[in-house]
Amino acid sequence: MTPVAVSPTALEWEANKERTREAQDNSQKIVAATTIPNGIHIGAGELDASKLTITRNPAPRHVPASDSSQPWEQTVPTDHMLTCKWSAVGGWEAPEIRAHGPLSFSPLASVLQYATECFEGLKAYRGYDGKVRLFRPQRNAARFVHSATRVSLPAFSPTEFLKLLKAYVGVEAPRWLPDRGRLIYLRPTLVGTSTALGITAPTEALLIIVAVSTPAVEDSRARAPPPAAVLGGVPSSTVNGAPPAVPQPGSDGKPTIGTRLIASREDMVRAWPGGFGNAKLGANYGPSMLAQQEGRNRGYHQVLWLFGEECVVTEAGGSNFFVLWKTREGQLELVTAPLGEGIILPGVTRQSVIDLVHERFAGEIELVERRFTMYEVATAAEEGRLLEAFACGTAVFVSPCAEIHFRSQDIALPLARGEPATYSLTIRGWLKDIMYGNVAHPWGVVVDEQT
Ligand SMILES: *Cc1c(COP(=O)(O)O)cnc(C)c1O
Repeated sequence: MTPVAVSPTALEWEANKERTREAQDNSQKIVAATTIPNGIHIGAGELDASKLTITRNPAPRHVPASDSSQPWEQTVPTDHMLTCKWSAVGGWEAPEIRAHGPLSFSPLASVLQYATECFEGLKAYRGYDGKVRLFRPQRNAARFVHSATRVSLPAFSPTEFLKLLKAYVGVEAPRWLPDRGRLIYLRPTLVGTSTALGITAPTEALLIIVAVSTPAVEDSRARAPPPAAVLGGVPSSTVNGAPPAVPQPGSDGKPTIGTRLIASREDMVRAWPGGFGNAKLGANYGPSMLAQQEGRNRGYHQVLWLFGEECVVTEAGGSNFFVLWKTREGQLELVTAPLGEGIILPGVTRQSVIDLVHERFAGEIELVERRFTMYEVATAAEEGRLLEAFACGTAVFVSPCAEIHFRSQDIALPLARGEPATYSLTIRGWLKDIMYGNVAHPWGVVVDEQT
């Protein structure tokens, strides 16, 4: 298959400042190069965080206790939202932080008719040192710009966006991150709001940032029963850092520890070359819910999305997917699907796993980004070479898999037999230490709080 070109912002994801500046230049080039049909140049007013106004919510909500079951439902929003309007004529207006509440649109709004929507998902963590951190948010900012331009929404400076995101977290953190180990899930969204039934690029848009209360990563097992849906993810099955519990078979004889995946059917595809699977668009999700619901009804947590007749392994639900196996030559290999074909969402967690394995497992594990098929996974399992597999993303963190249903076969991972997913949990522990500031690391970006 011919690789499909991906926009430079999708590939040039570097956490360091220089690369962020590059992404910003790119997005400004996109702004400069974009004209709408009537010839008006987009980008009259750039997104400008210095114009931010803050109006405090006079009626703040009750913050759920950290041991409450409420945060699991992901329906408890924080007190505020950030909004910023854009129009083709005037560019970006002054952003504002105000009380979280309903928005109003015309029924003809572009987002409602033609799904001109993209989003981001990241978390703010209250570290064990008391500081609040974001994890590699520069990457989310760059990806947000890439996703926006894929659906003809306006580009913006990722640097200014990041300033706004930090300002928003700074407002919410004092009340919503009261205890160490707590987190909130941040959902920046951009929608086309202009009213037209003609199929044209939106001439008006709205940038929104909201947040919801979310269970802390390391508490996930204490909070059973898990919800039906955790932001498109799977609740993590093992306590980070601690040895994973030995799985106990449920009433159906299936393991109850570890994520259980069901491979997508031949007639259901999440993404295809030339499509938009590499952009974080709402349009990727609506059509995937049918397969997800079917999988859940059959007792699986998530769909493992395959592509093509060869059953190429792509992603697990709304998260990336890795397999650890031994090659026939005895080499430990951690394999994940490559980004080149444009059918994989370039996850921040995915890249971080890759970076950490390169750095800390050099000589022990070979990290391979390549096309691999479900048949290879099945063969490795038959030959006793399949060691671990995990889904990873902001919502699911690093979730070791116990089982993969593929066609009529259940492929069991050693975790299902009670063996620890040692490598997955080691990587998970490294990430957690960075997110919660247990170690000083450039990926953990501290946010100043506004008290
Ligand atoms: C968001 C998302 C991921 C994970 O990305 P992270 O940046 O690691 O949270 C993976 N796959 C899909 C389809 C996604 O939407």
